[in-house]
Amino acid sequence: MSKDFIPPAKPIIGDEERAAVDAVLRSGMLAQGAEVAAFEQEFSEQLLDGRGTVAVNAGTTGLHLGLLAAGVGPGDEVIVPSFTFAATANSVALTGATPVFADIELEHYCLDPAHVESLITERTKGIMPVHLYGHPANMPAFEALAQKHGIALYEDAAQAHGASLNGRKVGTFGTFAMFSLYPTKNMTSGEGGMVSTGDADVEHTLRLLRNQGMLKQYENEIVGFNARMTNLHAAIGRVQLTKVGAWTKTRQENAAFFDKNLQGVGVPAVADGAEHVYHQYTITVPDDRDGFVAALKEEHQVGSGVYYPIPNHRLPSFQREEDLPNTEKAARSVLSLPVHPSLDDEDRERIVHAVNTLAKAGA
Ligand SMILES: *Cc1c(COP(=O)(O)O)cnc(C)c1O
Repeated sequence: MSKDFIPPAKPIIGDEERAAVDAVLRSGMLAQGAEVAAFEQEFSEQLLDGRGTVAVNAGTTGLHLGLLAAGVGPGDEVIVPSFTFAATANSVALTGATPVFADIELEHYCLDPAHVESLITERTKGIMPVHLYGHPANMPAFEALAQKHGIALYEDAAQAHGASLNGRKVGTFGTFAMFSLYPTKNMTSGEGGMVSTGDADVEHTLRLLRNQGMLKQYENEIVGFNARMTNLHAAIGRVQLTKVGAWTKTRQENAAFFDKNLQGVGVPAVADGAEHVYHQYTITVPDDRDGFVAALKEEHQVGSGVYYPIPNHRLPSFQREEDLPNTEKAARSVLSLPVHPSLDDEDRERIVHAVNTLAKAGA
């Protein structure tokens, strides 16, 4: 009776990754060096149409340094969603600026342009949409707002490697964009982040900020961090980069199978012109979401995740009184099913059977 548990996420590490790490270990060149430079170049060519790309030690660091390089600091406001991982607003707060929480739309769970516009003040420095779950945010609307109000756009593309809108890749819209390389993301380097920018000055500042403010050893130009990626992490990332395209296709095939076969639950919508890379496949269930999650696990050995149960504005770290009805609704009702490329046909059938059975029973 006991079936194997299907985990909600599963990083795939193969012999090629192990060999690449071993080669770096044998070289003795462990810290940031040639592997990191090659990873930046390849990531840029494959996912960012050749845009400037700077590797750092984590996605959160990438957001933080990106904002600093874009000139965000004390007295500034940056509009962010509350319905996202805490790193989005944390990175704004870490610069000394104030994150201002806007509501989302309920179609794709990304920032709602109309609500964002209502929050723009003379202190607003920029808007940072999140391409949540791997679905691009409404970038044409945010570009129009940015232009109209003379403010900047920054992209949290942590979950959206390879996603695009009207043929344009996410990560090419903002002053900068960040991609996370954490193990549960669509590709990994162990820990790590990539920051892309089309602005040569921002790129230069990013390279300084990640390395104590210097490009040349002991010629420190500004005050900076140690936010370097290691050659070990870059070696893993370079191998993963050769696989992420095929993994994304498998995620999309898994999603199409769920779209076709799930019954009695809300399935994710895809905007016209959008390529969704399904970091998460997020559904809504009729009622008692938490009961549904528990029953999936206990009765069907199907793992799932809730991203995110507590909106950022209500976290102990922010504690803001805000009225964000769509955010509250999403936090109560969303549930993400396993959609990762390790699922086999039997797993997919089991997931569909489990969800349909529970939805029918009104769980
Ligand atoms: C994962 C994630 C981050 C942070 O990335 P790390 O690499 O874990 O630091 C930021 N924003 C979002 C939306 C994320 O999902």
